[in-house]
Amino acid sequence: MPAQIIDGNALSRQLRAEVASRAAALTARGHPPGLAVILVGADPASAVYVRNKVKACEDSGVRSVFEKYDADLSEAALLERIAALNADPAIHGILVQMPLPKHIDPHKVIEAISTEKDVDGYSVLSAGELMAGLPGFRPCTPYGCMKLIESTGQSLKGKHAVVIGRSNTVGKPMALLLLQANATVTVCHSGTPDLAYHTRQADVVVAAVGRQNTVRGDMLKPGAIVIDVGINRNEAGKLCGDVDFASAAEVAGWITPVPGGVGPMTITMLLVNTLEAAERRAGA
Ligand code: NAP
Repeated sequence: MPAQIIDGNALSRQLRAEVASRAAALTARGHPPGLAVILVGADPASAVYVRNKVKACEDSGVRSVFEKYDADLSEAALLERIAALNADPAIHGILVQMPLPKHIDPHKVIEAISTEKDVDGYSVLSAGELMAGLPGFRPCTPYGCMKLIESTGQSLKGKHAVVIGRSNTVGKPMALLLLQANATVTVCHSGTPDLAYHTRQADVVVAAVGRQNTVRGDMLKPGAIVIDVGINRNEAGKLCGDVDFASAAEVAGWITPVPGGVGPMTITMLLVNTLEAAERRAGA
């Protein structure tokens, strides 16, 4: 039987409606939630991502402050701006769009954002909180993947999850979140000799590689939940994920499409984290 599609657009709409009602409640109490979005330089892809984030804020009643700087902005000036936003009580989340121009150290910038405003969850402290199981901001993409898995109604307890990819922003935090949900977790990477050996045993596969057709149907256990994080272009220039959707959907129980799966959830979880930050600040 073909897999059920996990609809990231539909789940996003539902979660954004909840964000909008929480934002309205905070605003009514005199604490309008605010997100600062900083873009340095003119990278066209970054400009699109930032525009989508700002629009998502507007649509959900979250105030956004968009600051755009030329590519020659100095690192010191950017750090100064972040310090000012850290001190601004009307700003609850700070997002600096990556990548930054080469002369700016991204680690310095991420670590300059105060932990209570680190709604991207990229700082070392946020990563440490996740590792230690403490409350804190979870990186938006893996957090969104967890919501997509939850939406299937399947418990992760005792399940075997295979994460393909070990980046600091997706693979590693994904593995930790799955572990926290009591899954048994295997992390695969470019040095894993036989990927299919692992994925065939998996009840849940999360592919975060950036290479099309990394996972095919014959590499899956029947009924598995398949979450495709990858964003690639195929030979025809069409957007596709890391999973060969057609063959995987014949074997999996549930699968996310690309586009319309993980993508919309990433921005949604940024809104969720910003709301959480604003509610904490307001003492809600
Ligand atoms: P990344 O930093 O490049 O990491 C890719 C990971 O894949 C690395 O850990 C790498 O292993 C592993 N890998 C590469 N080739 C492999 C192979 N043949 N078999 C197994 N593992 C392999 O990428 P990322 O930032 O995590 O992003 C991954 C993908 O997700 C990209 O397509 C990105 O565009 C997409 N993405 C989507 C969203 C969204 O909102 N939908 C958000 C973030 C990222 P090594 O560590 O050994 O090099």
